[in-house]
Amino acid sequence: MGEIKTAALVGGGVIGAGWGARFLLNGIDVAVYDPDPELQRKFETVLANARRAWAKLFPAAELPREGSLRIASSLADAVKGADFVQESLPEREDLKRRIFAEIDGLLPPHVIIGSSTSGLLPSRLQSDMLHPERLVVGHPFNPVYLLPLVEICGGEKTAAEVKERAGAFYKSIGMQPLHVRKEIDGFIADRMLEAVWREALWMINDGIATTEEIDDAIRYGAGLRWSFMGTFLIYRLAGGEPGMRHFMSQFGPALKLPWTKLVAPELTDELTDTIVRQSDDQARGVSIRELERRRDDCLVAVMSALRDNDFASGATIKDYERSLVDESGVLTLHRATVKPDWIDYNGHMTEHRYLQVFGETTDALFQHIGADAAYLASGLMYYTVETHIRHLHEVTEGEALHATTQILAADDKRIHLFHAIYRSRDDQLLATAEQMQLHVDTNAKKAAPARADVLERVRKLAQAHSALPRPEGSGRSVGVR
Ligand code: NAD
Repeated sequence: MGEIKTAALVGGGVIGAGWGARFLLNGIDVAVYDPDPELQRKFETVLANARRAWAKLFPAAELPREGSLRIASSLADAVKGADFVQESLPEREDLKRRIFAEIDGLLPPHVIIGSSTSGLLPSRLQSDMLHPERLVVGHPFNPVYLLPLVEICGGEKTAAEVKERAGAFYKSIGMQPLHVRKEIDGFIADRMLEAVWREALWMINDGIATTEEIDDAIRYGAGLRWSFMGTFLIYRLAGGEPGMRHFMSQFGPALKLPWTKLVAPELTDELTDTIVRQSDDQARGVSIRELERRRDDCLVAVMSALRDNDFASGATIKDYERSLVDESGVLTLHRATVKPDWIDYNGHMTEHRYLQVFGETTDALFQHIGADAAYLASGLMYYTVETHIRHLHEVTEGEALHATTQILAADDKRIHLFHAIYRSRDDQLLATAEQMQLHVDTNAKKAAPARADVLERVRKLAQAHSALPRPEGSGRSVGVR
């Protein structure tokens, strides 16, 4: 299977549309089949939210050109010519099995079929297929266009190579595949989420807490730390310096106390009504769509902060962003808009703002090569030791700018680079800067070689850029000629 250019979606509800948005934003053409007469409107709403979220999450990245969306008239029409199929039908085994058997007969055997099922066993889902080896669970999380996790689980007949290919594909679209090593109902994540849900249902049933109080118990506490360290790493820290063994001995005995029931209460009409009523009160009239946008904004904020720390889901989006950059040519790593207070008495961008934009461009390069906040915290960083700026064209308020970077030379301690700022609307060259960056050990306050992984990225870039023509204006000095 080569590159995936066209994907078919079977089912375009909450999850199908979320997949659709992620695929389209990755430049993949999408055909979707779903008999819902409102499909187009609902799908477009999810796509609009996804575009909005991605613009905030990747403000500087050059994202692929969006793929095209086609609403298919039948299952056969949707899967025709597809390089990959993602099923997001209602969670009913009989329906999924029937549709898998049907799609199976319509596609060449190398095309992978991914199922979004939250917990049905793939061995059962593939049992009516002629080519069961191509079926794999790719279980995503809502909103699919933002959350990176995708659980990959094969059935008895799924080919190992299919799990690998599916994982590589999901990774290429910015996700974090988690291979479920043993086929099990509910996979890993939903088993844990359901355990929490069961206890929460009991607390509502027994009048201990409302839906809002239960959510508060998560979002003001454990939820914050879950988002980057999960359960076990956090408990390790809860054990203090002795770590996990101490934690186990301190809190282990509580497992014998009746803190949890772990069986769900009977879902009576009365309990369901109570939950729905409490949930309505909790939402305070804010619509689902508004809540979705609030959720997305908060997720983007958390993930952006984690990206700055190169940690957990932040590391995933950073890797993804890096994968979008074409390193064979000059790099475009920074974008900016000229703000009103950047303008001087001449009505043009004032001098020191050029240096600001160039400085931010250098920072973007550092992020790209892995010299980030965590790198600085480890006592290593590049310092600017020389800058030569040429002001070539006037810049006015409100203009969108982008900056390019070319590495002219590099060794283990130095990067000699050349930036250019362009006006984005017509690619007019506005200014250039040539810089020397010196790598330092910030504690010893001395020049020192960069860390191996950073150096490797710098070398790769320098090697690729050595084939580019020397930029006009490089090596210039100030003087009357
Ligand atoms: P949904 O009800 O929002 O969407 C299901 C869609 O399937 C509907 O739009 C429906 O019209 C369509 N459909 C029904 N019969 C069809 C057919 N024969 N052919 C094509 N389309 C058909 O449900 P959802 O939440 O999107 O869930 C879809 C799948 O994703 C389920 O397997 C679910 O377990 C899984 N999932 C859901 C979530 C979640 O948070 N909602 C998360 C992860 C996985």
